[in-house]
Amino acid sequence: MRLAVLGSGSGGNATLLDSGQGCLLVDAGLSAKQLVLRMRELGVEPGDLTGILVTHEHGDHVKGLEVFSRKFEVPVYATALTQEVLARKVTSVKQWKLFTAGQSFECGGVSVESVAIPHDAVDPVGFLFEHQGLRAGVVTDLGHASSRLIDRLRGISAMVLEANYCDQMLEDDEVRPWSLKQRISSRHGHLSNHQARDLARELQSSGLERVVLGHLSKDCNHAQVASKVFEELGLREVRVASQTEVTGWMPVAEPAPVALSVDEATGQVVMELFG
Ligand SMILES: [Zn+2]
Ligand SMILES: [Zn+2]
Repeated sequence: MRLAVLGSGSGGNATLLDSGQGCLLVDAGLSAKQLVLRMRELGVEPGDLTGILVTHEHGDHVKGLEVFSRKFEVPVYATALTQEVLARKVTSVKQWKLFTAGQSFECGGVSVESVAIPHDAVDPVGFLFEHQGLRAGVVTDLGHASSRLIDRLRGISAMVLEANYCDQMLEDDEVRPWSLKQRISSRHGHLSNHQARDLARELQSSGLERVVLGHLSKDCNHAQVASKVFEELGLREVRVASQTEVTGWMPVAEPAPVALSVDEATGQVVMELFG
């Protein structure tokens, strides 16, 4: 299993998950043209998609859905509440597959688990994927991470995680009115770099090794600022998704074997990663 972010940010979000037996697209927030172009950059054709999974109805997650569904007949998975809102604008979807937040379903040989997340949309969800004993997740657009959510995410080895804003940059921003800043940083808004890091730290003990940071604010965050916050965790791989370019594939792999030895001079336990 592997994943790649086609593009991420307030201008549009889309992530590909490839199980080897088929590909899933999480959100279609780029134009249909860009979705196809960027998929092809990764060697995936629209016909390879076994499903489009929608996290929530905000434009930056569904912008390309209408035109894409006009051209390609791919089943679209959404919660009933999200679909109800979407159906007012998106009329070209041939096959809706409805689920309830918290439910699991099978799509293209991958076991998909939906998980409710706190965000200012009608019924927002994140997704967990399991295939051949490996687990991955896509969790963006959430105001905070509850301990219940963290428990659901345990056991994933790779994930796309929102790191929306740097606290200081949001506070210093002169463009956004106070009310919007409040919405962004509220418990139903978006995750800051530090909140994302704390979530990743919780999951590290249960095998999280690789993270793609996504949904970075254009004005209130920066790739270097976000990845710096994650440095202290010492994860195997941290990438930052961009609005304009695909990330390339990130493997969803077995946790690396670890060798423990004791440094004779200092008496400290030394941990060595292989692979
Ligand atoms: Zn949103
Ligand atoms: Zn969003």
